[in-house]
Amino acid sequence: MGRRITLFNTLGRTEMPFEPLEPGKVGLYTCGPTVYDYAHIGNLRAYIAEDLLRRMLLYFGYEVNHVMNVTDVGHLTSDADTGEDKMTVGARREGKSVWELARYYEDAFFEDCRSLNILAPTTVARATEHIPEMIELIQRLIDRGYAYHAGGNVYFSVDNFPDYGKMAGLRLDEQQAGARVDVDPNKRNPHDFVLWFTESKFPDQEMKWDSPFGIGFPGWHIECTAIASKYLGERVDIHCGGIDHIPVHHTNELAQSEAAFGHKWVNYWFHVEFLIAKDGKMSKSSGGFLTLSELEKQGFTPADYRYFCLQAHYRSPLQFTWEALSAAQSALSNLKSLYTGWLQEDAAGSAGDSSDSLGDSDFAEGPARSYLEEFDTAIASDLNVPRALGTVWKMARDQALSSGEKRRLLLRFDKVLGLGVADWAPQELPEDLRKLIEEREEARKRRDFATADALRDRLAEAGVVIKDTPEGTKWSYTPRT
Ligand code: AMP
Ligand code: ZN
Repeated sequence: MGRRITLFNTLGRTEMPFEPLEPGKVGLYTCGPTVYDYAHIGNLRAYIAEDLLRRMLLYFGYEVNHVMNVTDVGHLTSDADTGEDKMTVGARREGKSVWELARYYEDAFFEDCRSLNILAPTTVARATEHIPEMIELIQRLIDRGYAYHAGGNVYFSVDNFPDYGKMAGLRLDEQQAGARVDVDPNKRNPHDFVLWFTESKFPDQEMKWDSPFGIGFPGWHIECTAIASKYLGERVDIHCGGIDHIPVHHTNELAQSEAAFGHKWVNYWFHVEFLIAKDGKMSKSSGGFLTLSELEKQGFTPADYRYFCLQAHYRSPLQFTWEALSAAQSALSNLKSLYTGWLQEDAAGSAGDSSDSLGDSDFAEGPARSYLEEFDTAIASDLNVPRALGTVWKMARDQALSSGEKRRLLLRFDKVLGLGVADWAPQELPEDLRKLIEEREEARKRRDFATADALRDRLAEAGVVIKDTPEGTKWSYTPRT
């Protein structure tokens, strides 16, 4: 924890030293999925970046209390208050009840997270299971003069909160583009947002609850304030989400929270840039989106996608192409081959050290120590994972390090990268590949190098990397999936 960490804070738009509210502890809130469809790989990019943040904090010794909501009610097809309820649209599409739909896609989401090696949040909280907390907060906002009733709904009044829009740099005298179309006539200001809908909005709404404001359901934003404050208290260290949340969802969360609590709510706002498809933004509502299982159908593993995401800084847009994903797959496969090679050499006793990763005190100096230092500095500098990955590769190719040192460095780095290195093991070589290696050796003995090279290429395609050394031919094998 002695390490100085800096993080870019969307509030203020600067990179600043990270200081938690309580020494050694971090309260982390991430906006969870809206469970009306599968997560697309853009959503998953955001959750991978947030996982890297959490792992970096754990790596430096912080205790992290990570809370995530699951939006199973209240999110309309626009992030503002226009359009239909996303859950109702999904249920109609699939002929399911909204409740069945919500549970199905929630499970699918966490299954994706598990296969991407994303650490499970400390607490996962469904919006529909926190209605009393939301009602209590809305009541508080009414009592404090920040909310009003109109046309059966309860609205947050942005004019009563002078700091509204401070994070997004919004100006209240400039109407949002979306707000000009379909302005709800109940709103005193087009930026006002719904805290509680009554039946007036959707007469066929399946999810509804009794409340002091009438039978109805909550707007989308209030759930995050209610859930965050229940599990993390009224002050939060870091709040995460994708950049699309800055102008509406997080702006509204911030306003309602600070209005209700009467003080600053979140110290660091962490926003992940978009994954973009060739023809622009990838989004659930546009329909044309890719899921993790689609990538798997095309022969990629979740780890390949995770590696692909590690190559871009979380504040840079990342363009998805199949070619780039293939390149990531090859890089990961090469890293695996190197690692299993180190394992085999290490087991042969060259390094004579079987410990699993480097402790801080293992190396007072020397190249291993400097790689550790370089890696730690990169991840502490606004989570610069691509730079850290550069260090990984430099380390992997450095002849000055022993296989044991390389193996243990990579294991240690993987606490942050989360590629699952500890499970990488040399594979039993299938009989047909063993035969090809023997045929190649015979060809070399005959000095038939054309055949030997062709066999080497065939072996490489199957995941066998051949190295000819003065002690004979060595190989490492990583099955191609
Ligand atoms: P949703 O389920 O729509 O509420 O979104 C879940 C998370 O994914 C949120 O943090 C969004 O900001 C984020 N997100 C949505 N689209 C993308 C994208 N194309 N790239 C990266 N993150 C995204
Ligand atoms: Zn949220």
